[in-house]
Amino acid sequence: MKTIVTALLASVALCASLPGPAHAEIDVAKLKSAIETSLDSDYPKLDALYKDIHAHPELAFQEVKTAAKLAADMRAIGFDVTEGVGKTGVVAIYRNGDGPTIMVRTELDALPMEEKTGLPYASHDKTNWNGRETFVAHSCGHDIHMASWAGTARMLLGLKDQWHGTLMFIAQPAEEIGAGARAMLTDGLFTRFPKPDFGFALHDGAFAYGNINYRVGIGSSNSDSLFVRFHGRGGHGAAPQLTIDPVMMAARFVVDVQSVISREKDPTEFGVVSIGAIHGGTAENIIPDDVTLLGTIRTFKPEVRVKMLAGIERTAKAVAAMADAPAPDIRLTEGAKAVMNDPGVVATAEKALKAAFGDKFRISPPGTPSEDYSEFVNAGVPSMFFNIGVYEPERVAAARNGSGPPLPSNHSPLFAPVPRPTIATGVTAMTLAVLSAFDQRANGN
Ligand SMILES: [Zn+2]
Ligand SMILES: [Zn+2]
Repeated sequence: MKTIVTALLASVALCASLPGPAHAEIDVAKLKSAIETSLDSDYPKLDALYKDIHAHPELAFQEVKTAAKLAADMRAIGFDVTEGVGKTGVVAIYRNGDGPTIMVRTELDALPMEEKTGLPYASHDKTNWNGRETFVAHSCGHDIHMASWAGTARMLLGLKDQWHGTLMFIAQPAEEIGAGARAMLTDGLFTRFPKPDFGFALHDGAFAYGNINYRVGIGSSNSDSLFVRFHGRGGHGAAPQLTIDPVMMAARFVVDVQSVISREKDPTEFGVVSIGAIHGGTAENIIPDDVTLLGTIRTFKPEVRVKMLAGIERTAKAVAAMADAPAPDIRLTEGAKAVMNDPGVVATAEKALKAAFGDKFRISPPGTPSEDYSEFVNAGVPSMFFNIGVYEPERVAAARNGSGPPLPSNHSPLFAPVPRPTIATGVTAMTLAVLSAFDQRANGN
């Protein structure tokens, strides 16, 4: 099977030659093997960068040291680097003649949680977050993205006779709080620097390394935050008739709000509401004055989103009215929008990635997490956002057939990508995707 595929690869050219000046077509098989050879010598540096960043993660808008490490790396290989874009963001530009500007984005931030992987390079760092001390961990794998980003930059410079144009490598802060992309745009990302013709980003996930998932159209969900505070009247737990019980209201809301999903929304459309925090009360025998709930609302389509937000608000008001309580405080805050993958960009990259990865490159359903990469898409950068796997294929198979434990997902304290094959796939796929976009434009398509 492998040899047949390799033979096919050798004949794959991304585009038919157009009349006019001779154009060097991309030979995916040749490029892939060139990338793999370079990775053999580049990988130790990427491994060191990855493990350093992994061991010393930083939270949203605090990524000062992380950004400095990436900036130094990019400067060392010849990029023109600007730091402090959108507070802690990095923009690295490399010009290589006339051609399109292509953006490659990584995130910089980690999560306020304790890592429990027991890895030799695990994070034990703590920081201050919202006035409280917390552990910090790269449990979403943004460190994998940074290493892949740095490796791709290096690779594209090594292959600079294969493309013409401008590379715009950006390292974005605060993805986890959905604020960093907007901060960079507000700080002039597309006015102080060239506005990219195309953009690419990747995210890792709990599936087998060496595999890449992608999709055309909707790639991730819309995210909205929910804050509801029910106001009651506090009093003695033994005399509830003298109180208005906000704990009861909160409990009712948590259950009733799910009927917005099951009864109001079209069952064939995606929509989720999850309550992640309930704060209220101090002691067993005191009915508190108020209770606060925090939650997240995820959807793919704008019309489903509008319907759900309306239903959630109505349910909260109805719960309070039912208890004869004052109207609750309700705040539904808009977060990241769904990432839309551009059909043209995907179609171009698809040819190269299919040729390079065969059936390990496949279409998957949209992911239910959210991503503020959508800010760049909505600012007018046609893009492709794809996912790479992180675990040993045998472990994934065992988890799937029940003979092994379930795989820790992103945001789990046990999330532990296998660095080398994961980063190698990230670098190879991203390099080929960028080259395919340069090539498509060079061919005048
Ligand atoms: Zn995350
Ligand atoms: Zn993430």
